[in-house]
Amino acid sequence: MTPTDLKTYRFSTGRNLRQFGEYLGVTGAAVSQWELGHTPIPKWLVKLINALQKIELLEKPHPKKPGVIKHSEGYVLILNKSHPRANNKGYVPEHILICEKVLGKPLPIDALPHHVDGKRDNNQNTNLVICQDLDYHNLLHRRERALKECGHASWRKCCYCHKYDSLAELVERKGSRYSVSYHKRCHAEYARMHKKTGMTYREYRTYLKGHNSLFKTRSTP
Ligand SMILES: [Zn+2]
Ligand SMILES: [Zn+2]
Repeated sequence: MTPTDLKTYRFSTGRNLRQFGEYLGVTGAAVSQWELGHTPIPKWLVKLINALQKIELLEKPHPKKPGVIKHSEGYVLILNKSHPRANNKGYVPEHILICEKVLGKPLPIDALPHHVDGKRDNNQNTNLVICQDLDYHNLLHRRERALKECGHASWRKCCYCHKYDSLAELVERKGSRYSVSYHKRCHAEYARMHKKTGMTYREYRTYLKGHNSLFKTRSTP
């Protein structure tokens, strides 16, 4: 994503620098720095915008139900031009409308529904959980992933060795947006490497990636 892409995206949402910053939980000045290319656009923002843009991508209208569209990502969209969450073509995700019907009021702007069974077009209200914000939504997905990959929803992945472990075995460091977890020994390894070579955290992770893949045995097809 280039600074111009970011600016174009912000314009498409009709927000000024300050409003867009508020929406993201940063200052308008920070947004301005990204748009001018003075500071690199953070990864989380690129991810967020990609996700939001996908929701806006529309597929062909449903042949039998006018006003209903199946989105390319699997969501069902309903034509409702006056809705505050309508996209530029006037469509709103059906799961938003259903949550609002159940709540009896508009969903707070940061809130978003999660599909429990992972099926994005299953909008029965038993399949929807309202998340207060994107962070909480990410947490749900992280727990689901952990449960699937290691059998324990509360376990976390070490950012160095990528192995799941219980929180008792890990150190958790909270950042403003994300928190990372790691084994003490894995972090000590990095600290040693950093001291020796000046390698940054990011460089070390890239280094580990190459390193780990050397030990992976290729499975025969
Ligand atoms: Zn979800
Ligand atoms: Zn580790």
